[in-house]
Amino acid sequence: MTSFSIHGVGVSGGIAIGQAHLVSNALLEVVHYQLPSHLIDNEIKRFNDAITTVKLDLEQINLSLRNNAPAELSAFIGTHLMMLADKSLSEIPKDIIRNEQCNAEWAIKLQMDDIVDQFEQIEDEYLRERKQDVIQVVERIIKVLLGHPSQLTTEQQTSALYQERKVILVAHDISPADAIQFKQHQFAAFITDVGGITSHTAILARSLNIPSIVALQRARDLINDGELIIVDGGLGVVIVSPSKEILAEYKLRQEQWELEQQKLKRIKSTKAVTIDGTNIELFANIEVPEDIAAVKASGATGIGLYRTEFLFMNKREMPDEEEQFIAYKTVAEAMKGAVVTIRTLDLGADKQMNPDSIVNCANPALGLRAIRLCLSEPQIFHTQLRALLRASHYGNIKILIPMLSTLAELRQTKLLLERAKLSLRKQNIPFNENIALGGMIEVPAAAINAEAFAKELDFLSIGTNDLIQYTLAIDRTDDTVAHLYNPLHPSVLKLISMTIKAGQKLGKSVAVCGEMAGDAKLTKLLIGMGLRQLSMHPSHVLSVKQQVLHSQLAKLNANARKILGQTDLEKIEPLVVKFNSR
Ligand code: PEP
Ligand code: MG
Repeated sequence: MTSFSIHGVGVSGGIAIGQAHLVSNALLEVVHYQLPSHLIDNEIKRFNDAITTVKLDLEQINLSLRNNAPAELSAFIGTHLMMLADKSLSEIPKDIIRNEQCNAEWAIKLQMDDIVDQFEQIEDEYLRERKQDVIQVVERIIKVLLGHPSQLTTEQQTSALYQERKVILVAHDISPADAIQFKQHQFAAFITDVGGITSHTAILARSLNIPSIVALQRARDLINDGELIIVDGGLGVVIVSPSKEILAEYKLRQEQWELEQQKLKRIKSTKAVTIDGTNIELFANIEVPEDIAAVKASGATGIGLYRTEFLFMNKREMPDEEEQFIAYKTVAEAMKGAVVTIRTLDLGADKQMNPDSIVNCANPALGLRAIRLCLSEPQIFHTQLRALLRASHYGNIKILIPMLSTLAELRQTKLLLERAKLSLRKQNIPFNENIALGGMIEVPAAAINAEAFAKELDFLSIGTNDLIQYTLAIDRTDDTVAHLYNPLHPSVLKLISMTIKAGQKLGKSVAVCGEMAGDAKLTKLLIGMGLRQLSMHPSHVLSVKQQVLHSQLAKLNANARKILGQTDLEKIEPLVVKFNSR
């Protein structure tokens, strides 16, 4: 096999060497683990329940088809229902669970592979292609199963999945809803054909703390299942079937990288203070309560962004008040009095509740997203606000509103917050009456008008991922324009600077919680511009802290002024390199 390399956009550093595992949507999270005998009956029940749910779903879809729907559609669903009722899908997997003592997802996947093999033998092309129907039905079953976790503890799953450590996922695309499920598994790396550098899928890849590359264009076509590949997340390069020499070289580089990461751990409990004594708060971004372990390990001193929309993903129904309350309270208590900034629902655009959710507009990033969606669905918002307020009794919670663009949205939000408070008071349910309310500055309109927002809010947090997307008119999920996405664009820096100044003028704290905050190459610039709080994925805290420890404020301010005075991106980039080399 000849060796070749593919180039993409590295979104998470590090080097991984492992076997390629080609994935396709719902089947992608299917892993194998053994179950102890006493859990087998439970697993079979889980399987039966999944079959029943899928059957009900399909019947429901059939019923809801309008009279003018094409006849094939109904026939198609009928075929799926028949397949589901067939012993080969509804009974044999149970035998596999029993005989192999394995998880239900694995059993149905084994059975699917078997059926697909049989279809491959069929001469007639039309009939042969019916294997796609089997795959689609099995995908549905697996999706339902994945929404209902097995009885194995996380530790048991982790050890059962240990061998996955050397598996590299190769996908065409992965939705954030799918990617969030990777958190339960231990893959060595993850690469995709499409995706932009700050797409939510890329952000999740970074939070998994494994090397990751997007925008590889044709990786899934060019790489074979099981092939040995090297992923260099820093350079954005994948080497397929490497020669012995290249492999040896990369093993060495991998060891060096790991050594550097180990060394960084020495500063975990060192305070993030500049040489001249200015304290910089380094906070963490999280997606799910389970991320707290990584936050603790990183030495972050608070949570600057908890993206609550991930609690809503891969669910058939919106999580109710109790489920949300428990999630928020868990985080607040685990942080033991440290700040926990919880952002209200930012669903919409590339973050849909599940991969099947339909986006009905041409420009979803400009559509009904985040606070716009919440204000148009006041009941959903009310439920979340009540859950947040209730949890505020158990820790140091602050509320953060995403994607504000007008003061009217902010005022309406405040009214709804008051309404939620009132309802809790009436029920004598305790909450923090003085809970701080902050706003994300991620739409240029809000950055330009930041003073007005700062007057009516307790704090501001700059979401640079969206601020860059909306300022430069670059879809953050589109790899074809990823090369134009640049945080150092003078217009972006000006908007950040305006927001910082607005906060300083009104005595309100300003943070950055977009991906810029976790890029150690930008730390000195951001501090020099006046930022004192940066929130990032836990895996970036130590490298950013190292920059803080080597910074001298007076110099940083002068350098930042010089950079902000530039109007030409080409002049800014070398200045930032020089800035860091001093
Ligand atoms: C941002 O836009 O920078 C941000 C932090 O929010 P998200 O990435 O979740 O859109
Ligand atoms: Mg955003």
